[in-house]
Parts: sequence; C-alpha cells; structure tokens
Amino acid sequence: MTEKQKSFMKMAIDLSRSGMNEGKGGPFGCVIVKDEKVIGIGSNSVLATNDPTAHAEVVAIRDACKNLGHFQLDGCEVYTSCEPCPMCLGAIYWARPSKVFYANNKVDAAKAGFDDQFIYEEIELENQNRRIPFQELMRNEAKAVFEEWIEKENKTLY
Ligand SMILES: [Zn+2]
Repeated sequence: MTEKQKSFMKMAIDLSRSGMNEGKGGPFGCVIVKDEKVIGIGSNSVLATNDPTAHAEVVAIRDACKNLGHFQLDGCEVYTSCEPCPMCLGAIYWARPSKVFYANNKVDAAKAGFDDQFIYEEIELENQNRRIPFQELMRNEAKAVFEEWIEKENKTLY
C-alpha cells in the first residue's frame, strides 16, 4: 500500500464524515482514481437528494464517468470507506474499474445499522418467496425488442 493510495482512502473516509455531518446521508464516502489522479468523488446523498440509489460509490461512479466522458472506468481504482453493498457491487462490475479498496467491512457496517446481508439472501430465493415478489409479465412482447437489438446494426456494445 503506497502513501498515495492511503491518501485516497483518507479522502474517501473524510467524505464519509463530511457527508454525514452535513446531513447528506449515511457515513459513506468514495473516491475514484485514474493514473494517480482523483477523477470522481461521492458521499452518500440518499437524504439530501431523496434518492435511495445515491450511495457513495454510485455518486462517485457517476461523477467519474461524467468527467471521463465514458461509461467505463477502465484502469481506475475505487477507494470506498466501506465494503460495497450489493447494489454498489453491481454498479462497480458494470463500470469495470481495475481494483477496489475498502476500509470498513460488511460486519462493521452491520454494527452501525447498515446490514445488507438480507439482499444477498433475497437473491438466492425464488421470485415468489422474496420479500418483494417478482413476477414475469409480457415476456414475448419484450423479447421482440431484444430480437431487434440482436439484429440492429451500428450499435455500441458495452
Ligand atoms: Zn451501496
């Protein structure tokens, strides 16, 4: 671990504290780095923006991608003050950075009242057994659009 990497994580932790103290949301911060330069930052902003998806990682990914003018975080490192929840884990996989560093882990988060274990458990359940039931509807109509996508020329693959 280099001093520079420690300074990026310190920045993520500082963002977690300032966001919390400003009432933006929970104590979570995130910094995205490319070529040793910060290209995106975020703190949890769920309360400030009434956006349940405004976790620090998602806010930072949006900021970084906007600054890069690209939908992928190729060659980027993510520094997050806490091990990502399942939603952020998914967002990170879609953004495809090269590495993730986290400070607090899932157990620390659960102790602070942010327990996301139930989401991992829900993923394993059949649709009808989930707390929020999922039901298939109008598959054939939607499938027609996928078929159009498969046939579509000049599309951007991602
Ligand atoms: Zn999250």
